[in-house]
Amino acid sequence: MRAQLLTIGDELLIGQTTNTNAAWLGEELSQMGVTMERTVTVGDDASAIQSEMDRAYRTARLVIVTGGLGPTHDDLTREAVAEYFEAPLHSDDEIFARIRRYYEHRNRQMPEAAAKLAQVPEGFAVLDNPVGAAVGLWHEDADRLLAVLPGIPQEMKGIFRAAVRPRLDGQTDLHEVIHRTLVTSGIGESSLQERLGALDDVLDAHTHLAYLPSTSGVRLRLTATTNGEPNAETRLDRLEAHIRERAGEHVIGEGDVTLEEVLGDHLRAEGRTIASAESATGGLIGHRLTEVSGSSDYYVGSVVAYANRVKQDVLDVGAEALRTDGAVSEAVAVQMAQGVRRVLDADVGVATTGIAGPTGGTPEKPVGTVWIGYADATQCRAVRRQYVEDRTLNKELFASAALDLARREQGR
Ligand code: ATP
Repeated sequence: MRAQLLTIGDELLIGQTTNTNAAWLGEELSQMGVTMERTVTVGDDASAIQSEMDRAYRTARLVIVTGGLGPTHDDLTREAVAEYFEAPLHSDDEIFARIRRYYEHRNRQMPEAAAKLAQVPEGFAVLDNPVGAAVGLWHEDADRLLAVLPGIPQEMKGIFRAAVRPRLDGQTDLHEVIHRTLVTSGIGESSLQERLGALDDVLDAHTHLAYLPSTSGVRLRLTATTNGEPNAETRLDRLEAHIRERAGEHVIGEGDVTLEEVLGDHLRAEGRTIASAESATGGLIGHRLTEVSGSSDYYVGSVVAYANRVKQDVLDVGAEALRTDGAVSEAVAVQMAQGVRRVLDADVGVATTGIAGPTGGTPEKPVGTVWIGYADATQCRAVRRQYVEDRTLNKELFASAALDLARREQGR
């Protein structure tokens, strides 16, 4: 099934509102096996709505329109669609009563303009809205399916899930889509892409790979559509094998698994405990470790050693290292990791000391520089990483780097 999407609203054109409806619907529909062909955005302009409706309606089997279904004067979609279909609008008593109840329930006077929400073009079915007052509209004939949905994302999603998806599920011309997600850590999107190399042998028109980056790592979504061919699983197996071979130890798991869960599993399996000494991350490592249920099995605690005085007095970092190398240095990161391991009596110590920004950078140690320290019973070391200019992102990236270093050491 080929589909086109028409999103309506001046605010989308001028960048005041991000077109999240297009992204959400694009993903939902393609996961259902619909082929997304085109997305168009137009402003609140009846003739533009009609001409794009016409263009979409001529070629696609499914057309979805969002936005401009509300009660205000710039909401023109209902009238434009009715006119396009030459379908007179009539007021639906049941919807009208529901809208009145909606306002009564909230102790609010029903505005006169809200009556517009009950107007339905002849020949259209009503799509119930489980989360708001405005309903959606549905039109179906032998060749075409049309859904007209409100612009408010929450309402659009509510109606789509409750009333559009069930109508589409019954269609026979959907292709089957299968997905797999591989979770990676400790490598950025572009380096990962480089490592994976040319994918011509494992990707084709029906086998796709999407990079979903976040501060804790890049998730790789592998998708295969069946399109009548029975070998979708085999194609995904080949793609997955290629990724695992190339990305090596950066692949930490599948599905929804997180870096902190994988680290926790390793620690539990080895019967080890961990503690963190956090300067630049301000406790974020401890926070992330304790997001995992059952982390008391292996997480001992953290020392947030922001001031040098705490690094010295609590973690026993040497004054000499602080003076000659500076707080953001290999020596201090190592001593912090050793110190917290000793002070909190843990098997593993990790530490962060860095410059999150936006101030504090120097040519030698620019904003985004971090030293990650690691210590266990047999070794201690530190690695330097360089991240971005944004303070919040940096803190998250520093924490991920520390968790990843600890994960790799346990996995050996
Ligand atoms: P309302 O009843 O509020 O008038 P509506 O169906 O007329 O609903 P719009 O007026 O077009 O929808 O938009 C309502 C809200 O939804 C606005 O805040 C708008 O920014 C937001 N919105 C509209 N279209 C989109 C979109 N494609 N993506 C994300 N948000 C959107």
